[in-house]
Amino acid sequence: MTFDVVIVGLGHAGAEAALASARMGLSTAAITLSLERAAVMSCNPAIGGTAKGHLVRELDALGGQMAASADAAGTHFVTLNRSKGPAVQATRVLCDRNAYSAHVQSVLATQSGLTLIQGEVATIEVEDGIARGVRLVDGRSIQAKAVVVTTGTFLQAILHRGPVQDVGGRLGDAAASALSASLRALGLELGRFKTGTPARLRASSIDWSRCERQPSETPRPFSSRTPRTPFPLNPLLDCFVTHPTEATHRLVRENPHRSTLSGRIEGRGRRNGPSLFLSCVLDVEVSGEASCWAAWGCTGQRLPRRAHLKPPRRRSPGSRRASCDAWPRVGRCPSVGASRSAGCSR
Ligand SMILES: Cc1cc2nc3c(=O)[nH]c(=O)nc-3n(C[C@H](O)[C@H](O)[C@H](O)COP(=O)(O)OP(=O)(O)OC[C@H]3O[C@@H](n4cnc5c(N)ncnc54)[C@H](O)[C@@H]3O)c2cc1C
Repeated sequence: MTFDVVIVGLGHAGAEAALASARMGLSTAAITLSLERAAVMSCNPAIGGTAKGHLVRELDALGGQMAASADAAGTHFVTLNRSKGPAVQATRVLCDRNAYSAHVQSVLATQSGLTLIQGEVATIEVEDGIARGVRLVDGRSIQAKAVVVTTGTFLQAILHRGPVQDVGGRLGDAAASALSASLRALGLELGRFKTGTPARLRASSIDWSRCERQPSETPRPFSSRTPRTPFPLNPLLDCFVTHPTEATHRLVRENPHRSTLSGRIEGRGRRNGPSLFLSCVLDVEVSGEASCWAAWGCTGQRLPRRAHLKPPRRRSPGSRRASCDAWPRVGRCPSVGASRSAGCSR
């Protein structure tokens, strides 16, 4: 098989690269570990926010997909930093994460000039210093004039949950191990990113009456290509905020030695600040029951499950009786270039 361009990976970056390449009239192949998991939102169900909101709008101006798919799947829209000047204001759309990836996948599947291939890329094939294609772990070889690598958090990824470590790209996905050796053999320096995600809470176990409701604004489309009426395209959902008590702060202060970040992850400093807060997003993600993405995990601490869940009186008022649906893991991934860290966004 021969193409103009091969894209490795179909996360947010790979989907944009594949669509951009095919829409420019280049024959394009996009190879990813699982086509069903293309464009999955790894962590919080948000598109946009400070810094990334501008990026999404720039992509949109160039014909990109993220803003349009966020409009199609959005359930809560806000303009952040509204009290400040326009340069720092940013749109953030909370999405139904399944609807978001399904929308991007349907756009990928119907894009002419784009061939979607499921498989793991093991090697970048290079001749005279120029990428000529890729070879997959199963032996398939695909030739191309250019190769774009967008492998996200998957290369030789390690997942941490409190003191426990596993191999995996993110919750529910295997890691990709072979490609790192090929990149190293090409003389590229590999660094590591670190990122994290909080526990998902069962919606029915939260005391919503003790949380402050944060409704959506009257939404306007994120994408300049989405018609203004009818809009929004989905029923809007509320966000809720609750605040930690002094006891919650003490719990965190007393447990740094049990934190994932205490010695087990080498990194250049902590990405997430020591602030604690809890905002919940209704997000149907686990076994059909509404589960909530709780920003309280972004403390920089990553305490083990028991430290988070045992002492109810030390939790934020709205979450005293909260139970945990899923305990996703903090990931680490090598990536090309200098070591940097990424984390949860709001
Ligand atoms: C637990 C967790 C929490 C996160 N939280 C946030 C957050 O709050 N905010 C934020 O901005 N970012 C967060 N991230 C980072 C998140 O990964 C990126 O923001 C975003 O997903 C990056 O998009 P991407 O397209 O670069 O990579 P990804 O979305 O990771 O996609 C990579 C793609 O490459 C494919 N792939 C990898 N290796 C191969 C191979 N060898 N062959 C074929 N296909 C391959 C995978 O199957 C996947 O489709 C988080 C990540 C994780 C794991």
